[in-house]
Amino acid sequence: MIKKTDVIIVGGGPAGAACALALRRSGADCLVLDQATFPRIKPCAGWITPSVIKSLGAVISDYPYGITHYKRFQVVIKRWKFGLNTDQYAIRRVEFDQWLLRQAGVPVEQHTVRTIESSPDGYTIDGEYFGNHLVGAGGTYCPVFRNLFKSTPNRDRCRLIIAMEDEFRYPHNQKQCRLWFLQDRLPGYAWFVPKANNIINVGVGGSAAQIKARGDGLKRHWQRLVEKLDTIGLVSDHDYHPIAHSYYLRQRQTVVQRERAYLVGDAAGLATRDMGEGIGTAIASGMRAATAILEDGEYRLDGIGSYSWLSLLGFR
Ligand SMILES: Cc1cc2nc3c(=O)[nH]c(=O)nc-3n(C[C@H](O)[C@H](O)[C@H](O)COP(=O)(O)OP(=O)(O)OC[C@H]3O[C@@H](n4cnc5c(N)ncnc54)[C@H](O)[C@@H]3O)c2cc1C
Repeated sequence: MIKKTDVIIVGGGPAGAACALALRRSGADCLVLDQATFPRIKPCAGWITPSVIKSLGAVISDYPYGITHYKRFQVVIKRWKFGLNTDQYAIRRVEFDQWLLRQAGVPVEQHTVRTIESSPDGYTIDGEYFGNHLVGAGGTYCPVFRNLFKSTPNRDRCRLIIAMEDEFRYPHNQKQCRLWFLQDRLPGYAWFVPKANNIINVGVGGSAAQIKARGDGLKRHWQRLVEKLDTIGLVSDHDYHPIAHSYYLRQRQTVVQRERAYLVGDAAGLATRDMGEGIGTAIASGMRAATAILEDGEYRLDGIGSYSWLSLLGFR
């Protein structure tokens, strides 16, 4: 028998969980389908801005895991080194995503979505689920995007980022994030993010198109980062297991709604154009889509920031 609900959300990451949280608070009936079982690994530095903390309101005050608060970053742009006063936070995605989905308090089923059939009444998923509304929160490879939004201009390859990262336990007493921009002709940046409970996240990311056009490869930049961490004395003798992932920065034009289907977070390609931050925009867009569904209104991205630099400089 087909399971019926008002809203089906494909993907239980920050975008899907925030949408579910807002829908449930207003008493709407929804179901989250995710191919993974939570807690699941998501390659991400887990760096979040004060606006993310603010958007989650009272819920975040009960966060049971480590949140690291940074007052200062060390930045290197080419050969120019400086300290930057800031106001930023970091969480571990393996913890944060499971926590946020639990806060949503809606049913979650482990299911890999493949086919989507539209009808005047709603959407049938794999012949097993039916929703009057459908939210695509499945990240870069979201099946809602593939099935219903592929003909849109949402995926300009010039805005595709490729990144590699590793997060691991390593004894440290570091309090500052370090960022290295445009090193060794990388069209992007590398990071060192020390977190609570002796966790470290390191990574490197940049424009996929520019790296390819230069005949370069991200693995080479990863190797340079590993050498740098060793030379500086931040991480030595560590057996790395980096994970690669790609995602889209905010496009000039993004189609995010078709009939009663909505795209949120990475499925819509909403990471900021300067720093590639997508957790805040995922949460904001998930909440916006929920409001549009509840009010039967238009879902728009106006006011969801396309850049991070103001927040990086400590402006709220
Ligand atoms: C290396 C790296 C570092 C990053 N660092 C930062 C950072 O420090 N700060 C920041 O703000 N952003 C960062 N980002 C970007 C950020 O991780 C994403 O923008 C954010 O995770 C988007 O959230 P989402 O909910 O849209 O998608 P996701 O978190 O990717 O969640 C999508 C969910 O959909 C599920 N799914 C996918 N396909 C299917 C399917 N067919 N059926 C069912 N379920 C499916 C997946 O299992 C997943 O749980 C980074 C990205 C990378 C790659």
